[in-house]
This record gives sequence, structure tokens and C-alpha cells, in this order.
Amino acid sequence: MDYFQQKNGVVHAENIPLPEIASEVGTPVYIYSRATLERHARVFREGLKDAGKIHLAFAVKANPNLAVLRILANQGYGADVVSGGELERALAAGMKAEDIVFSGVGKSREELTLGLDKAIGQFNLESEEEGEMLAAIAAARGEKASATLRVNPDVDAGTHAKISTGKKENKFGVAIDIAPDIYARLAKLEGLDLRGVAVHIGSQLQNLDPLEHCYVRMGELVGQLRDAGHQISHVDLGGGLGVPYKPEDNPPSPAEYGAMVARITKDWDVTLMFEPGRVIAGNSGVMVTKVVRIKPGVNSDFVIIDAAMNDLMRPAIYDAWHHFEAVEPTGEKMIASIVGPICESSDIFTKEREVDRVATDDLGIFRTAGAYGATMANTYNSRPLVPEVLVDGDQYAVVAERIEPATIMAAEHVPDWLK
Ligand SMILES: *Cc1c(COP(=O)(O)O)cnc(C)c1O
Repeated sequence: MDYFQQKNGVVHAENIPLPEIASEVGTPVYIYSRATLERHARVFREGLKDAGKIHLAFAVKANPNLAVLRILANQGYGADVVSGGELERALAAGMKAEDIVFSGVGKSREELTLGLDKAIGQFNLESEEEGEMLAAIAAARGEKASATLRVNPDVDAGTHAKISTGKKENKFGVAIDIAPDIYARLAKLEGLDLRGVAVHIGSQLQNLDPLEHCYVRMGELVGQLRDAGHQISHVDLGGGLGVPYKPEDNPPSPAEYGAMVARITKDWDVTLMFEPGRVIAGNSGVMVTKVVRIKPGVNSDFVIIDAAMNDLMRPAIYDAWHHFEAVEPTGEKMIASIVGPICESSDIFTKEREVDRVATDDLGIFRTAGAYGATMANTYNSRPLVPEVLVDGDQYAVVAERIEPATIMAAEHVPDWLK
């Protein structure tokens, strides 16, 4: 359910017609709906109502916009961050330090120190070496860092290879069979308060089976660690729940997910932690674009739009499908390849797909662009950095400005010795 619906033949974000925002802010532009974000945050929490004590940490990498993070902070969400920059953002948006979890395989010495300086709630360690480094830094300060050990359960998430993280050949976590030995060595270190285990097997999961299989294995591991004398108080079950990108997609609902979690974890007696990203933000945003012109092609027309792969990378890097719709549809359809202006053949959003008929200067939207959308945008081909707008009922605000090439050029320098 989202609040991007047609009213009087025009797609609105909540109560605002999209052409109004497009004419004021320009295109391409990302538009987020506050009501949708809040709804998804609430539904995810409600889904876990039978799962005992829970901690929710929004995966900041899915949508790091400060206004979006503020909305989620107000919903009682903490943050799952994967860099020092995301950590600073989560704090700037009003998330409590104690509600921040720091994930990622490559946390540097500086980032680990930053996490300690800010007194974040938990580090999710992805290797024994990282645990040793964190322990040494914390011990030198006379502190103990709260941490879990991220485990790689060798489970195939059944999703796109580039967003799978829990197979043994992936770089994330430590292999589950050697986890107890590593855990035992890390648990002895002075600077660590090792309090549990973490897992995250991938993103855009369409089916609960891999998650269930993974959580069963985590339950066995918790038993094994307790038998070895460790106190396990926290288990982080990660994120990964999929969202519908196509009208016919039917991923598991948060309620179905929550029921599975409650069933598998009922005897664990821990605080369960979750790191949802896409399921909160995905359908809370659309990208609005304008048609530059229609160019006849061999198999179908090319609809050339003013958005490109630099603004929304997912189709180019994950072969992802984003549903396209005209903002003021006529009811007519066309077979079209919708492409951007960038000089790369991967700058294509739909390949010979049936879509709403559009013409030069018409507006269109790509749905489900609220997660892994603007955050991955870049300025390739010296294009501006795409802006973001947040809608709240009858009002809206630009929550990230368009950054023009001149601003980017101002940060570049031709050395004197070339003049
Ligand atoms: C990306 C990521 C998430 C969020 O994944 P979604 O599929 O967006 O829910 C959660 N935890 C970790 C460690 C991640 O890297």
C-alpha cells in the first residue's frame, strides 16, 4: 500500500499532483511520501508483535536522506549503518546513539573509533581480525564495546547474485561452522562485550524459506554457544524482506515474516534485532521523469527520458525492473524501450515493454524507487545530482537539492603547473 495514486486522471503523491512538483523543482526528481514511510514502519513493527523483545534498526544505505531518517527516528527506529558517514547521518537525523548498529566488512580503525566516540549501541563484527582491532582500541580507552559476531550461514537467498550475502563464498560474516571457535576467542578479549550473533543473507527476498532455514541454523548456534558457557542476549536477524516491483509480485508480508520469526525464535530468550531497509523505503518513493523525445527504433520506439542510469542505477547494475507509468495516462499503451541520455547501452529502464503511451514533454514515474534509488545516484556524464522531495499531505519540501555541475566543478582544481 502506498500513497502514489491517480486522482482525476493525474498521479498524486498524497494530496499533491506530481506535475506541480515537477514544474517547481524540475525533473528528474525523487518524491517520497511521509504517510507511506510511516505506514511501512508501523506495519513492520506490528508484524513482529509476537516476537518478544525487539529492536528495529533501519538500514540507512537503502535511503539515507536526513528527512527520511527523521521520520523513522520518530517511529522509534534506530539505524543499521555501514560507514562513518552513515553513522553521522543517523545521529544528525535524531537517532539515538544506543539504537545504532554498525555493520560492514571494512570498518576502518577511524570508523571503529568514531563508533566508540559516539557510544553507539552495537558493532556487528564481520571477522575475528575486526574484533581484535575493535577490542584493542576499546581496551586502550578503558572501554568495552558491545558487539555481536556476524555469521555466514551458507544459505542461498534465492535472489539476484549481486544482492546475495549469505553464501559461503560471499565476503560477509564468518562461516557458521567456525563461528563457535572465533566467538570463544573474541569473548575472552578485554575490550569487547560480545553479546550475541548477527546474520543477513541478502536483499529482495521473495520467499521466507531461505530466511527460515537461516534462522533455524542461528537458533542451533545460539544453543551451541550457550552450552559453551557464553551469555547470549542479542540476536540480529538482519533485513532482506522483498517488496513488489511488478504489479504481479507477491512477496511475503511483514505479518507472515513476523509469524515465522515468532515461531522459530520462541525459546531463544534474547532481544531480537532487525535491519529492514527496502521493505520500509522501497514503495515510499517514486522517481519522476520527463520525456525528451520519441525516437523510432528497429523493434520498438525508444522513449528517451531526462532521467538516466546515474539517477537510478538498479536496472543497469541488477537488471532490476521498475514499473513505469504516465503521470497523466491516456489509457493507450505502446511497446517501448525507455532509455536515458547517457552514452552507455546499459542506460535502459524498459526493454521493448508494454507501457503507458507517452509523448514529448509528458511526465512519467518509476515506482518503488524509494530504496537504493537516490542514494546510489551519481553525476556520470556531468549530469546534476538528482534532487529529492518529501510530501506530507498538502505540503511538500525539497529535502535534497539538485547539485549542479558548476558546484561539482568548483571542488575540482587545475594545478598551477598546468596553467
Ligand atoms: C543492506 C543491508 C540490510 C538491508 O537490506 P534490505 O534488503 O534493504 O532490507 C540489512 N542489514 C545489512 C547488514 C545490510 O547490508
